[in-house]
Amino acid sequence: MPGKDIRTAEVIIIGAGVIGASIAYHLSINGFKDILVLDGASGPGMGSTGKATGGFRRQFGSKINIELSQLSGKKLIDFKDEHGVDPGYIKAGYLFLAQSPDEMKNLTQANALQQESGVKDAALVTVDEIEKLNPHINFSNITGGSFCGSDGFIDPKSILNGYVLSSQKRGVNFGYDKRVEKINYTGNRIESIETSTGKFSAEIFINAAGAWAGWLAGLATEYLPVKHLKRQVCRMKEKNTLPAGTPMTVWVDSAFHFRMKDDHLVLLHPDQPENNYNYDITVENSWLERVYKIAKEKLPAAKDCSIDTQACWAGLYEMSPDEHVILGRSDFLENFYYANGSSGHGVMHSPAIGELLAGAICGKKSDIDIDILSPRRFKEGKLIEQIRFF
Ligand SMILES: Cc1cc2nc3c(=O)[nH]c(=O)nc-3n(C[C@H](O)[C@H](O)[C@H](O)COP(=O)(O)OP(=O)(O)OC[C@H]3O[C@@H](n4cnc5c(N)ncnc54)[C@H](O)[C@@H]3O)c2cc1C
Repeated sequence: MPGKDIRTAEVIIIGAGVIGASIAYHLSINGFKDILVLDGASGPGMGSTGKATGGFRRQFGSKINIELSQLSGKKLIDFKDEHGVDPGYIKAGYLFLAQSPDEMKNLTQANALQQESGVKDAALVTVDEIEKLNPHINFSNITGGSFCGSDGFIDPKSILNGYVLSSQKRGVNFGYDKRVEKINYTGNRIESIETSTGKFSAEIFINAAGAWAGWLAGLATEYLPVKHLKRQVCRMKEKNTLPAGTPMTVWVDSAFHFRMKDDHLVLLHPDQPENNYNYDITVENSWLERVYKIAKEKLPAAKDCSIDTQACWAGLYEMSPDEHVILGRSDFLENFYYANGSSGHGVMHSPAIGELLAGAICGKKSDIDIDILSPRRFKEGKLIEQIRFF
């Protein structure tokens, strides 16, 4: 390709979202000197990272997701000292609400696992306790719930910026407007990748392409089961409808939830979108109407609010079949690694994912066994099980 970039690096990371940036930083502190992060967009975080609302929770239904949250939580506390950027970690809590004995049973089982895994502040709560944690909701049918005070909120863009800035200080290069369109491999090794601006070769390649990761892997005829799923966010016009410290409040039957973000009430309902094709991220009016109707029933204060249509947005979740991250080396291509399919938890788990993948590439042992997250699990039929509580 005369006149175009031909660049060689030690490691090339494809995707400058929060996961790619975290991996770049963690590889650099593990001694890698020549790291290049490529993205098809014109800057960092223009995929799902820039669309995330920024929830952080330790209340999960599988040991491995709890471990990822625990490690990330620890790293978020040290984040400002390490990177000079405040990750915006606010311990407002996540409050899960049950309306039936079955729902309460699931929350109880998940809570036992969380306790076993060291999340000591996750607790089952009575209706009286819920009234103190969030007095604003409609209590009809609520029978109990669970709450963890060290769950809460983080700022996705600040975490991304922290990793990008620290990586750059350590010599990592970022290249934008470079969409990877071809992967050249010989036998079981990738030799180079091709973008609209040229060809790049490296010893190691890492797929951090978020919701587009399955398509990217397909360029090397690899099957990576990551699907994109549109997620919409409804923001209300009025300010300070609820106190800023109101916990993320989730009805476990439908997963309808709300929170305060930047002084505004924000409504979320992860249901099936009408249009989930072609990476579409338009906000559907029918969805806005539906979610607002639910909100008025569950949160009386929402009746005095109105939807700020211009401020609503949508983005893509990167779904794996068992809703757990796919982390580790490709089964076939020995120099191709995956950090994909976090299934909507990628920002909160990005500190742990970066540390663990960089460690694995360097052959370091970790207290967290990430073998369970390997892409091999789909071929072997060893999908990760979890206690589904919402
Ligand atoms: C509405 C919404 C709310 C969310 N809320 C939360 C939350 O509360 N908490 C949480 O933890 N997570 C949340 N998420 C999920 C979170 O956003 C993702 O898990 C996370 O951002 C994934 O990070 P990533 O770096 O893997 O992907 P991305 O940020 O999407 O980065 C991937 C990058 O790869 C680039 N790319 C793709 N293909 C190519 C290619 N061929 N060549 C070059 N570059 C390419 C893209 O341009 C993109 O910049 C939410 C997501 C949405 C949509």
